[in-house]
Amino acid sequence: MDAAMNLRRVAVLGATGSIGASALDVIARHPDRFQVTVLAAGRQLQALLDLCRTHQPTHAVIADEQLYPALRDGLRAAGLATQPHAGSAALDQLAASDACDTVVAAIVGAAGLSSTLAAAAAGKRILLANKESLVLAGELLTRTAERAGAEIIPIDSEHSAIFQCLRSRDASLDGAGVRRILLTASGGPFRGRRRADLEQVTPAQAVAHPKWSMGPKISVDSATLMNKGLEVIEAHHLFHVPAQRIQVLVHPQSLVHSLVEFIDGSTLAQMGLPDMRTTLAVGLGWPQRIEAGVGGLDLLAQGRLDFEAPDTDAFPCLALAWQAMDAGGTAPAVLNAANEEAVSAFLQGRVGFLAIPALVANALSTLPAEPADTLEVLLSADQRARQLTLNAIAAA
Ligand code: NAD
Ligand code: MG
Repeated sequence: MDAAMNLRRVAVLGATGSIGASALDVIARHPDRFQVTVLAAGRQLQALLDLCRTHQPTHAVIADEQLYPALRDGLRAAGLATQPHAGSAALDQLAASDACDTVVAAIVGAAGLSSTLAAAAAGKRILLANKESLVLAGELLTRTAERAGAEIIPIDSEHSAIFQCLRSRDASLDGAGVRRILLTASGGPFRGRRRADLEQVTPAQAVAHPKWSMGPKISVDSATLMNKGLEVIEAHHLFHVPAQRIQVLVHPQSLVHSLVEFIDGSTLAQMGLPDMRTTLAVGLGWPQRIEAGVGGLDLLAQGRLDFEAPDTDAFPCLALAWQAMDAGGTAPAVLNAANEEAVSAFLQGRVGFLAIPALVANALSTLPAEPADTLEVLLSADQRARQLTLNAIAAA
């Protein structure tokens, strides 16, 4: 077969972020398989221009429309044929266009929902790192993808592990043979501390994750355990498993990325070094295995694997996420939006660490869950929760 026919055309949305960098690293190792056709960023113009020089995409998008002239001039000055675009509508349109068949959805936060939905409706292979879009609109997104024949491959180490373990059984059988999902958590930088010890922690301490190098928002989410809460909701939507059959296990070494227990008593785990390039290689190459630039696991050098129960008293965000998932409807959207605003305020030094769960709890109790059958209802809940949380921050 003609090699060009097999070339996957990849759009990397959130290209200047941590996941974007890992995706581009794996892609660059396989010029025979992948071509970067679209690169998009929020507002990091210089970093986007640097990536365009390296990867020479057909299109570059900057979400912040004010930066359009600078993007256009920068591409021209670099002598690149890359076409400039700006704004979220351009992003959605390119994600759904013939320019790509694969979309790495690596924008952080609810800002990623629109382009992810556009890619789903257009039937793309979606490498979904943007977990917030599943939390905000999980049913809508998975339904849209199913209808359009879009394939969603999770780019979250735990969900990639579960995805791989689940491929060991015949999924066409009723119930699919799964008894439980065991979602592992590193416990973050403050594992073992009590709630009172968390009052004074700083943003710099919160983003210093012991095992993973990630963007600031998800790093804070890992420190509060909200990340694990979002991931429980993510797993529920991706794998159609009810909440009661998902259990969180703290595993500080971050080598077992998650486990699936089957009804025959088998438990399968996926293991590896904590490096998102493995996860991205799974998504990019699936069902083939491709080089990711990541070494294997030396279990003798690692020595031991520990597991413990999560402490929801010190880290109430995990319990809040369960609560939102149980309430259903708009509750996960409210949880996510309040959390995004609270984390942003914490990173700016405007509120303390313990204000994050307090602000999320406040939003959930003030805005009771409503049925969420349309995107409009979800986006309106998202907006109300943001406004409520911003008001609470201003009043504090
Ligand atoms: P990051 O902060 O490093 O990067 C975020 C990217 O999104 C940047 O390229 C930024 O320009 C872009 N962006 C931000 N706002 C935008 C907007 N309004 N429009 C368009 N682009 C915008 O974040 P990250 O750590 O790479 O995480 C990205 C996503 O992947 C998050 O949803 C996160 O939860 C998820 N994730 C990350 C990791 C990890 O290891 N970093 C692991 C699992 C899941
Ligand atoms: Mg994860």
